[in-house]
Amino acid sequence: MPALAVAAGILLAAQTARPQNQDFSKVVVKTTKLAEHIYELEGAGGNIAVSVGDDGVILIDDQFAPLTPKIKAAVTALSKKPIRFVINTHWHGDHTGGNENMAAAGAVIVAHDNVRKRMSTEQFVAMMNRKVPPSPEKALPIVTFAADVTFHFNGDDIHVTYAGPAHTDGDSIVTFTKANVVHMGDCYMTISYPFVDLSSGGNYDGFIAAAAKVLAAADDKTKFIPGHGDVTDKAALKGWHDMLVTIRERVKKLVDAGKTVDDVKSAKVTAEWDAKLGSAFIKPDQLVDFVYAALKPGK
Ligand SMILES: [Zn+2]
Ligand SMILES: [Zn+2]
Repeated sequence: MPALAVAAGILLAAQTARPQNQDFSKVVVKTTKLAEHIYELEGAGGNIAVSVGDDGVILIDDQFAPLTPKIKAAVTALSKKPIRFVINTHWHGDHTGGNENMAAAGAVIVAHDNVRKRMSTEQFVAMMNRKVPPSPEKALPIVTFAADVTFHFNGDDIHVTYAGPAHTDGDSIVTFTKANVVHMGDCYMTISYPFVDLSSGGNYDGFIAAAAKVLAAADDKTKFIPGHGDVTDKAALKGWHDMLVTIRERVKKLVDAGKTVDDVKSAKVTAEWDAKLGSAFIKPDQLVDFVYAALKPGK
């Protein structure tokens, strides 16, 4: 997918579950097999993971409402069993937009407590200067958790673990322990620098912590589904983690030396990654703002 289209998809993340102006008619949902019972669906919006088997179907995220028929068709091609659960990795509309439709079809929506809280009330995403209205009652997760929950489903143990404040304050990482696949939500993107949604309680340092925790439990065969972009291996996620650490160290050194945030931006601390990650969505200067916010909360 061209970087611009991807960026548009992410931008919609913080808009609304029912975007008025995007044309979804041309979106093709692409299915990729990752393990015996696990598939990835790509369309527009956040990547979807699918578990299929005797117990039925679990979806991790459900993109935008107008895409529900295409997503359902892709799932039906894999399994005739019902979609029993949808787990939302976080509240943004490109991951939860299909909730209302999926719930109407019988799925139970599951997410961290803060996903339900944010979807229940009007949100303001400062980076886009945009208000997001509350979601309809039927779109809200009806099962929520504070720390983690495990699904014993389709022969796997699917751990859903709160990441702590990272992309938002309601991020979950989903680990298919037997299939050895991890859905990172927007705590990992391969097409952009991290988007720290500060107005949703996000924190740059949470991205480092989330990646470190997942890496510690992974092996060389683990597959990682990012919120946006291509599935990767452990080496690629390690590269992302190390980049975030290096950028943080560079910014901290300058801040400790009394430099202002504008000085830090002039220092081009992200230069070697800018060509690959700095043009699609989050710009290098915005990334510096995110790191600065983690280092100097409230400033
Ligand atoms: Zn997203
Ligand atoms: Zn997001």
